[in-house]
Amino acid sequence: MEQSDIFKNRNAVLITKHKKDEVIFPVLTQTAMNLNLLDTIDTDTFGTFTRDVDRKGTQLEAARYKALKAIEETGESLAIASEGSFGPHPTIFFAPANVELVLLIDTLNNIEIAGWEISTDTNFCHTEISDLEEAKDFAKKCGFPSHGMVVRPNDNSGLLFKGITSEEILEEAVAKSITASQNGKALMETDMRAMYNPKRMKVIEKATINLLNKIKSLCPACGWLGFEITEWINGLPCENCFFPTKGTAKHIYQCKKCNHQKEIQYPSGQKFSEPTFCDFCNP
Ligand SMILES: [Zn+2]
Ligand SMILES: [Zn+2]
Repeated sequence: MEQSDIFKNRNAVLITKHKKDEVIFPVLTQTAMNLNLLDTIDTDTFGTFTRDVDRKGTQLEAARYKALKAIEETGESLAIASEGSFGPHPTIFFAPANVELVLLIDTLNNIEIAGWEISTDTNFCHTEISDLEEAKDFAKKCGFPSHGMVVRPNDNSGLLFKGITSEEILEEAVAKSITASQNGKALMETDMRAMYNPKRMKVIEKATINLLNKIKSLCPACGWLGFEITEWINGLPCENCFFPTKGTAKHIYQCKKCNHQKEIQYPSGQKFSEPTFCDFCNP
């Protein structure tokens, strides 16, 4: 069976109230599914970046929860949900990273396919400010006003200004937060919700492209979709001493339907690793 047959003319529901459809739909029009938007469910109750609501579970669990919620609400069997996270990059020191996941769930065929993207192009940042000038400097550094800001007193008084994209509202939020704060300081951070963060939107778009590529990747044995890399094997030899390095020597693909496996040797196209990455030549 071809992948196009599985999704053809079926209604897929994207659950978001943060306008992620603007980047997800144009990519997924390349599949044969009908794309529908479900923007009436408050996904913020599942967790927010401003920590007023804690996220439940891992990034994958959170996306799965949203997708299944969309299926439950609409009675459809195909749903798409996205979930992002921000923090230190796993391999690049001192770099903040944005990891985006776009997940597709098909309960009719028992399919779950995850599109991922990791990017260091993020403005994810927070600071403490004591006056309007500091607030404006910080906002400018973060790409304000095309990127939204969040301001609150630096204690948990409950006051919270989100989605700030104008100088006027920024001034008001800073003044009110400083007045309400016990030590005259306010906390400021970047608003990481997709519609207030064009940088993040780009990463979500790339994660959707990753999802699309996995949908298009078919098992050579049975034709099932979502034939993807399940294992990365290290040990690419150093070009100087032939000692195995941490460089990827092969990718293992596995079919989720028939378990067929395929090995791709030298996936980067290089048969040797540079000595810079060798623990023997460059300890
Ligand atoms: Zn297969
Ligand atoms: Zn070496």
